[in-house]
Amino acid sequence: MTTEAAATTAPADIVVALAGNPNAGKTTVFNAITGAHQHVGNYPGVTVEKKEGGRRFDGVAIHVVDLPGTYSLTAYSLEEVVARNYVIEERPDVVIDVVDASNLERNLYLTTQFIELGVPVVVCLNMVDVAESRGRSIDTELLSELLGVPVVPAVASRAEGIEELLRVAVETAREGRVPQRQVRYGRELESHIVEIADLIVQAGGGTREVPARWMAIKLLEDDDEVRREVEEALEDGDNLLARVDRVRAHLESVIGDDAELALADRRYGFINGACAEAVSSSAETPVDWSERIDAVVTSRILGIPIFLLLMGGMFELVFRLGAPPMGWLETAFGWLGTYVSALLPDGPLQSLIVDGIIGGVGGVLVFVPQIMLLFLAISLLEDSGYMSRAAFVVDKLMHHIGLHGKSFIPMLIGFGCTVPAIMATRTLESRRDRLTTMLVTPLMSCGARLPVYVLLAGAFFAPQVAGKVIFSVYLLGVLLAIVMARVFRSTILRGPLTPFVMELPPYRMPTLKGTLLHMWERAWCYVKKAGTVILAASVIIWALLTYPQPPAGTDLAGEPEIAYTVAGRIGHILEPAIRPLGFDWKVGISLTAGLAAKEIVVSTLATTYSIGESEESGAPAVREALRQDPIFSPLVAYALMIFVLIYPPCIASMVVLWREAGSWKWLAFAVLYTIALAWLMSFIVYQGGRLLGFG
Ligand code: GDP
Ligand code: MG
Repeated sequence: MTTEAAATTAPADIVVALAGNPNAGKTTVFNAITGAHQHVGNYPGVTVEKKEGGRRFDGVAIHVVDLPGTYSLTAYSLEEVVARNYVIEERPDVVIDVVDASNLERNLYLTTQFIELGVPVVVCLNMVDVAESRGRSIDTELLSELLGVPVVPAVASRAEGIEELLRVAVETAREGRVPQRQVRYGRELESHIVEIADLIVQAGGGTREVPARWMAIKLLEDDDEVRREVEEALEDGDNLLARVDRVRAHLESVIGDDAELALADRRYGFINGACAEAVSSSAETPVDWSERIDAVVTSRILGIPIFLLLMGGMFELVFRLGAPPMGWLETAFGWLGTYVSALLPDGPLQSLIVDGIIGGVGGVLVFVPQIMLLFLAISLLEDSGYMSRAAFVVDKLMHHIGLHGKSFIPMLIGFGCTVPAIMATRTLESRRDRLTTMLVTPLMSCGARLPVYVLLAGAFFAPQVAGKVIFSVYLLGVLLAIVMARVFRSTILRGPLTPFVMELPPYRMPTLKGTLLHMWERAWCYVKKAGTVILAASVIIWALLTYPQPPAGTDLAGEPEIAYTVAGRIGHILEPAIRPLGFDWKVGISLTAGLAAKEIVVSTLATTYSIGESEESGAPAVREALRQDPIFSPLVAYALMIFVLIYPPCIASMVVLWREAGSWKWLAFAVLYTIALAWLMSFIVYQGGRLLGFG
């Protein structure tokens, strides 16, 4: 046998499958690779044309198979099934995914499918000449990093880039290099994907060739082929499919859409995010309205102002709309207090119920309208897709501080509650990013801190400016988070930045059910906390604020009786440390109690000031009592808001931080640095304000 003959009959070293959307230039690439060495046949059993060819490259025999052109790898069309089965069953050493650079977003959809399947893929970014003539330039290196697969630019019609493509393809095939990233589908979908994938593994399914995760996603997409396989090949397949159907129904009722659409949305979100970063366009030709909105909302110049305007508007709205119902609740609790006072004889029991329980729990419950409005606004922004834009807009800023926009999502959740926010840092891949985000997330002002601001701003600022004052506190939290992240990233958590895609899912009309459900879940948490933890804390704090009572005739040196109690003494011990911030021992009591949870600052202030001189009860009386207290002024109130913003949010969040960071050292660090920072910032504000004459 001659070497000539061996070269044509011997099995190829590497099998390459060419995939791509119709008209992406697949055949042109195929011809550029193989020249005249082609063979046309059919795929077994179907009348889909199968073109094959060969080529020697750098001493390696390459066999190329031209797959049918497809937009996806679902089981909808014959072409898709053929292409998919070839990749799954024949296991080519590498798939070259030919992508039309002038129509990148749409073409990358198929790429996400290969990424999901976990096969070695090289993207051939074809038609860059057309893209460039339309004013689009693509940063292939960045795109490659974001997608986690190699990307090689090419102009197949002029055979440009083909040699490089082959070189990268051979390398990828030899190393068996699979995609380095995954499309993530968001909290709701991800939890179900993981659940079903686990069930598949338990039933003996899922291999390196056909990953369980991929099967789970396909089952959620109601893929007939995969369903059939599960039914035939897996033990208890019927049960598994029944479970899948229940999950699909559940998803549909929560999302208000098919699971298929929701999954596709997320894939487009991944793609849009990658393109928005890696593609720069001079000739703007947005096609659909979603892109048109994004062109404005995520633009370099307008993005940040729009974001700030929306957030400012949100707080304004929450504060203004929430004020009347809050007033009604205050009146209602005031009545309740007066009614119960009349019912019970004067004495400790009356004081416990009226000042302790109704004052404490009521003082927290009156904020339910505002909390619900805040959560409604957050749910709307999340469900409509704007939150992702907000994260995208700040992404570029975040790079400057050594984080990326993805860290901003936990931080945004932090506006609601720090506990889920810290847990949301799990989506971050690098430990350094995660720790940094965890350490700064408590600076995002959570819902429980809002009541403190509302109480203080309501007492010391005119209604027209109160909303702006509160917004400024939130903004300061964000700014401090940015500064601290920068500090941590350049000191204790120094290291390189890992790139990844910021998803930009299409805008959606939020469903009434989904929005209300999300709002309700969060608001209910708040109410539950008021009924349990805060009730218990209120009773304890009431006792600390009431006992021991000074024996008749004790000289209190002009201070109220409360100074004699346990809490009063703790406050006095703390006073020297917080005096430079403009706070006295009464504030010290509230701040100490507030370490348990921020709502308790309000209920403690309420109890402290209603156990004091005042005859009336209820929030208006507390505001009045605060105004009457000579140590308070708008400046002190503002310094107090800032202290409350920065020092540890609550015990629960600190426990979660401890667990997620995996070491009590990080917990101790978080507690100490936030208290120190809170002191410093309040000091600067109070002393600075006095120097400027606001005292
Ligand atoms: P297929 O459907 O993916 O097989 O696409 P074809 O290979 O048939 O190509 C579709 C059209 O695009 C043909 O007219 C090609 O000549 C043209 N084409 C392919 N690659 C390029 C390229 O890189 N630049 C330009 N300008 N045209 C290309
Ligand atoms: Mg073709």
